[in-house]
Amino acid sequence: MEQDKGIRRAIRWQPRNPWCSDRRRADWRAVDVNDRQTEADEQEAQVDRYDVIVVGAGVAGLTAARLLARAGRRVVVVEARDRIGGRVCTDRSDGLVTDLGASWIHGIADSPVAAAARAFGMSMTEFTVGGFQPDSRPIAYYGPDGRRLSDGETQQFVDDVHRVDARLPEVVDASAADASYLDVTETVVAAQGWDVERAERVREYLRHRAEEQYGAWIGDLAAHGLDDDQIDGDEVVFADGYDRLPEHLAAGLDVRLEHVVSHVRWGDGVTVTTDRGTMTADAAVVTVPIGVLRSGDLVIEPALPEPVAGAVGRLAMNAFEKVFLRFPAMFWDDDVYAVRQQGPEGAWWHSWYDLTPAGGPPTLLTFAAGPAARAIRGWDDAQVVESVLAQLRRLYGDHVGVPTDVHVTRWQDDPYARGSYAYMTVGSTTSDHDDLATPVGGVLHLAGEATWTDDPATVTAALSSGHRAAVAVLGRDVPIEDVWGDA
Ligand SMILES: Cc1cc2nc3c(=O)[nH]c(=O)nc-3n(C[C@H](O)[C@H](O)[C@H](O)COP(=O)(O)OP(=O)(O)OC[C@H]3O[C@@H](n4cnc5c(N)ncnc54)[C@H](O)[C@@H]3O)c2cc1C
Repeated sequence: MEQDKGIRRAIRWQPRNPWCSDRRRADWRAVDVNDRQTEADEQEAQVDRYDVIVVGAGVAGLTAARLLARAGRRVVVVEARDRIGGRVCTDRSDGLVTDLGASWIHGIADSPVAAAARAFGMSMTEFTVGGFQPDSRPIAYYGPDGRRLSDGETQQFVDDVHRVDARLPEVVDASAADASYLDVTETVVAAQGWDVERAERVREYLRHRAEEQYGAWIGDLAAHGLDDDQIDGDEVVFADGYDRLPEHLAAGLDVRLEHVVSHVRWGDGVTVTTDRGTMTADAAVVTVPIGVLRSGDLVIEPALPEPVAGAVGRLAMNAFEKVFLRFPAMFWDDDVYAVRQQGPEGAWWHSWYDLTPAGGPPTLLTFAAGPAARAIRGWDDAQVVESVLAQLRRLYGDHVGVPTDVHVTRWQDDPYARGSYAYMTVGSTTSDHDDLATPVGGVLHLAGEATWTDDPATVTAALSSGHRAAVAVLGRDVPIEDVWGDA
């Protein structure tokens, strides 16, 4: 490697009060090697030949690197941003904890993320509505006219949703290869013989679920797109921030921040070109999001072979943004986890989640997902907030206060994410996820949320895929518990 300007940013990772400053630029006070690195560390930092180069310091990359380093491999992690964590990103700029990326573990039963979080001493708060369930916990439903539904009306609606869900797997299994989620849900709803109004309430619920779970218009999502949408056990959020997870995973690793990778060449080993120099290794684990792979900003040479290339082409990054609103006082229904409004007024803003129990002032979280997220892309925060508040005022009138603090994310505009997570476009199959992880030339391994079939689009997928990549590089099994063992 040329004398690397990046050496000043090469760190032996030490967890220290990280924060993302805002939705566009996440700030991280990287350790200055002149202050902190020992002489031995500096010598090591100048070595340009590694056993393994890991591209991306998100959960997938850090998991792979941690296991490989534990197995005695000389590993370097190269990361474009000036912080670790990738799409796990916690803002503390206002003294409050706001998870701008992932918030939930969608089911803690048998979850490796939950096991890691426990081992790392991260405190978890139960919040079981993150999977857009209709009724797992108390939810206040408002009808199209803005009136709160009675218990009986709510129950009938919830029963209707469950009826469709019970029928869906069979229809999805029988569907054509190019069927969309809209096609299969239409088939099931149409078969119920409901009147127009009753059917439309369920249709819009299914639209919103596709949008909130996958950030995609229901007609753009493959019929099998929500197959993995199963919640095992309670869901939880992290009162102290999800970023504690990558922070713990990174402890002791050699992470090079602000190293933007432009080329990965594979053949007899790998060569990785960054804007700060070139590195070589026996193998590479590349964990950048699908959106980056598809953008051409990071070129893999020779081009990826099948089945990897086809799978990259069939998965796409979504449009999914979070809007956090903190208020001086609660004005919404007490004792509910979420508020939902039905009808045309709720086309964009239909669900608000009460994050107050997780700590801090009264807080609602809502999402701009799919078409809504694309539509507000050019809006400033004030426009977004006003649009959300207009809907809240329909339900709660003058009780709606002026927010004291607001966060609107911009993952679509983030060059190192290009969306929030990948979804299956029409024509893709569930195996596309795992196909992405097919080893290339015995030296190049893709990992990351999009490469995991069982539970893609999650932190669980990222962590599991990082484990799989490490196993593939080592050529022998290592227990996933090694990720958090001796924490
Ligand atoms: C708004 C939002 C909400 C979410 N909610 C949840 C949730 O509640 N629960 C859940 O489980 N999951 C959720 N997710 C998904 C979850 O955050 C991701 O699936 C997971 O964090 C992905 O990890 P990863 O390591 O695969 O990718 P990333 O975290 O994206 O890591 C890849 C890394 O590669 C780096 N990189 C990109 N390009 C380059 C380059 N050219 N050179 C060098 N480095 C590069 C990136 O900066 C990044 O750090 C959410 C995501 C978002 C954005």
